[in-house]
Amino acid sequence: MKNIGFVGWRGMVGSVLMNRMQEERDFSYFHSTFLSTSQIGKYAPSIQGKQELFLQDAYNIELLNSLDIIITCQGSTYSNIIYPKLRKTGWAGYWIDSASSLRMNDDAIIILDPVNQVFIEKSLNNGIKTFIGGNCTVSLMLMSLGGLFSKNLIEWVFASTYQAASGYGARAMRELLIQMGQVYNTVTDFLTSSTATILDIEHTITKFSKTDSLLVDCFKVPLVGNVIPWIGNYMCDGQTQEEWKGQAETNKILNTSESITVDSLCVRVGSLRCHSQAFVLKLKKDICLTEIEELIQSHNEWVKVIPNDMKQSLENLTPIMVSGTLEIPIGRLRKLHTSNKHIAAFSVGDQLLWGAAEPLRRMLRQLL
Ligand code: NAP
Repeated sequence: MKNIGFVGWRGMVGSVLMNRMQEERDFSYFHSTFLSTSQIGKYAPSIQGKQELFLQDAYNIELLNSLDIIITCQGSTYSNIIYPKLRKTGWAGYWIDSASSLRMNDDAIIILDPVNQVFIEKSLNNGIKTFIGGNCTVSLMLMSLGGLFSKNLIEWVFASTYQAASGYGARAMRELLIQMGQVYNTVTDFLTSSTATILDIEHTITKFSKTDSLLVDCFKVPLVGNVIPWIGNYMCDGQTQEEWKGQAETNKILNTSESITVDSLCVRVGSLRCHSQAFVLKLKKDICLTEIEELIQSHNEWVKVIPNDMKQSLENLTPIMVSGTLEIPIGRLRKLHTSNKHIAAFSVGDQLLWGAAEPLRRMLRQLL
């Protein structure tokens, strides 16, 4: 029986991965070892399968070396330290990772099997042993527009993203919820008073948010009642790292011979879970909207074309409706006035499922 190690299982992505693996009864196929960087010796999570009862040290190279497959959702700092050390010992196991640091390595494949299964199989046959989940917005874009990418119909695409707090991890989501409570507490008296005006309420909240009274850590500025037009470090040409990943990862996932231009403007918003994206794209040829919808709909079993009307958009195209599901709704599809080849669309996807945990667990099942 293979011995699989799980690092980062209690974080945001890790928790969702654990849930999905329990739902799919994945743990019954192998022996599990749970590791931690901070809680060594505590009880491991209880799963339906064979397992080590206590958390092991995630920095113990000798222990890691004894594992057949390691899945890590711990983050780039951990991968940067441990991965090279482990490979240096001669470890020939499979490394499956949600962090970005190894994605562009020549010996690593970015995994999104509904989009690049053929490439994954080819890489496995070529002896590749390092499989990394893609950036969440990139994976969700490819799941939603896969029908157009696979037919090589896209000349360029621009994505305006609306990214949830949980995209920054478990602490960030707690921070947003605490901020919500803090803001509410400052105006509870006003809300129940019949004499307080709406400007009394707004001024109180704005003043409170502009002072240092709100708990602000992960995002440097308040996220509640706000949007933050910057995600990741500065990269180059005015792009943030998150924006840079669009073109680099899309082309790596699709294994394109001629690079497709992808650009974006990435923004953090106060939703809890699910990233939304508004796309503007240019097609290589003028095809009718019905054909575009058919191509998109037929690409994979999770994408769902939503008719461009108010009721359907409100009911199906919001983070709250999509949270916790594997569905990838895409709607607001229309041709733009600028050109018959210019298309607009809006898509929502759970960045913790198809944008993070799901490709990892599916890769594990494939290896097993
Ligand atoms: P996270 O929630 O911050 O979890 C990472 C680790 O932080 C945990 O495994 C845990 O490790 C530690 N930790 C510290 N305080 C914690 C707390 N209060 N609750 C839970 N864990 C805590 O990070 P993440 O969002 O899962 O991201 C992990 C990696 O996946 C990152 O590289 C990220 O860029 C990537 N990713 C994230 C998303 C997303 O939507 N969040 C999507 C795609 C890719 P110990 O048990 O060892 O202390």
